[in-house]
Amino acid sequence: MMLQRILPAGKDFIKEIVSPEDILVDATCGNGHDTAFLSRLAPDGHIYSFDVQAEAIDSAREKYQADNISFVHDGHENISKYISTPVKAGIFNLGYLPGGDKSITTVYDTTITAVDTLFNLLTPGGRIIIVVYHGHDSGKIERDALLENLSAWPQDKAQVLQYQYINQKNSAPFLLVIEKLK
Ligand code: SAM
Repeated sequence: MMLQRILPAGKDFIKEIVSPEDILVDATCGNGHDTAFLSRLAPDGHIYSFDVQAEAIDSAREKYQADNISFVHDGHENISKYISTPVKAGIFNLGYLPGGDKSITTVYDTTITAVDTLFNLLTPGGRIIIVVYHGHDSGKIERDALLENLSAWPQDKAQVLQYQYINQKNSAPFLLVIEKLK
């Protein structure tokens, strides 16, 4: 059996806990692929999908429009303006939009604010996965800040897992998984 690659592994961490009626968050909509994945997982629930770029939101909405998705043209650091109900799981796919403007990228301070806010909305047993891209300069800063922040979370609050291949070239992405303790 092959070891799971990063993105499928991340999706499996979400699939394991999600039920059809759950509320889910895609914190970085981009091209909308993760939003579409979440929408299929929770057909009777609801998905909130955030992005700061109108082009990303518009093209994802065009491709993946569904009754159970709300596309939100706003930063994920403002999640609490839009959601007050308990959330089962969330995905952050950090960095810049593939094929888009590379200067518009997630940054550590708003990412950490958003992770904290989403964690507070999570149901016990809920999970957040974060795909960390650290090949670009701000990605390295974001990686270091996230690792420093999450490493300090108390063990009785959450389990935080780092899933990473350590012998891959070119700063291959890795995964962080946060599980809220029951
Ligand atoms: N999950 C996406 C997909 O399936 O195509 C890829 C996401 S892409 C790597 C990162 C996205 O995060 C970009 O579209 C970017 O505009 C967005 N972004 C950057 N800062 C953000 C913020 N503060 N809040 C929400 N989205 C943000």
